[in-house]
Amino acid sequence: MELTCSKCKCTLDSDNFDRQKSSKSGFRPYCKDCRRKYAREYAAGRKNDPDFVQRQLRAKKKYRASSKGKQREREYLSEYRSIEKNKQRDKEYGRDYYHKNKAKRLEAAVEWRNSNPEAIKVHARKASEKRKANPVYRLADKIRRSVKRACRQKGILKHGMTFELLEYTPQEIHGYLSQYLGKPCEVCKECEISLDSCHLDHITPVCTANSLQDVIKLSEMVNLRLICPDCNLKKGPKYEHPRSQSFPHSGNQVPS
Ligand SMILES: [Zn+2]
Ligand SMILES: [Zn+2]
Repeated sequence: MELTCSKCKCTLDSDNFDRQKSSKSGFRPYCKDCRRKYAREYAAGRKNDPDFVQRQLRAKKKYRASSKGKQREREYLSEYRSIEKNKQRDKEYGRDYYHKNKAKRLEAAVEWRNSNPEAIKVHARKASEKRKANPVYRLADKIRRSVKRACRQKGILKHGMTFELLEYTPQEIHGYLSQYLGKPCEVCKECEISLDSCHLDHITPVCTANSLQDVIKLSEMVNLRLICPDCNLKKGPKYEHPRSQSFPHSGNQVPS
């Protein structure tokens, strides 16, 4: 195979290039001669010019910020992530990091909250506006909270985004649960169900779950319905799992 050196522009056999796995061609862009020359210059430059290293770093940074550099990085990342092994490794690393640093993260979050009360208010207002304006988001939010709550009550480690774990999209669950809207509550046959006045009910209670798989299974569409808040609150204690008695008033009075 012939390659063109990007320094001296000579076209040479690939024997004249060092290998580089991460590059597109599998070889380094400079020929061996140019690399040797460059290495010598680099070493000399480092010795004689105090600003040399900084200048190299600046040039690197500039290249990375350029459209060509960005394009190259995107290509590299998509190649890297297309390998299942890499993807898996990244995921595991992220998960590990997330759980190992839980205490630290929580502490940082509390500190941030305390020092940014205004931002919290803005965030809460925006979220509430979004819930009001967007019924799909509103239901999705109910589901996210219910999954999170169920996991927390049972000490189950939840990893992954809720709607990646569940096998439906917010749009699909909204379409499915819409059948309950505008109709009387299935349990008391009285109250009319609306998005403003409904609770997400798990037909088989989610408190029977003992693993993340159980929570996911119990959060399948067919196990979900909308009933009136009164009925849901009445239903709650009847199914209370013995273990959840250790959380009598943990701020999760909404049974599911
Ligand atoms: Zn060359
Ligand atoms: Zn009811």
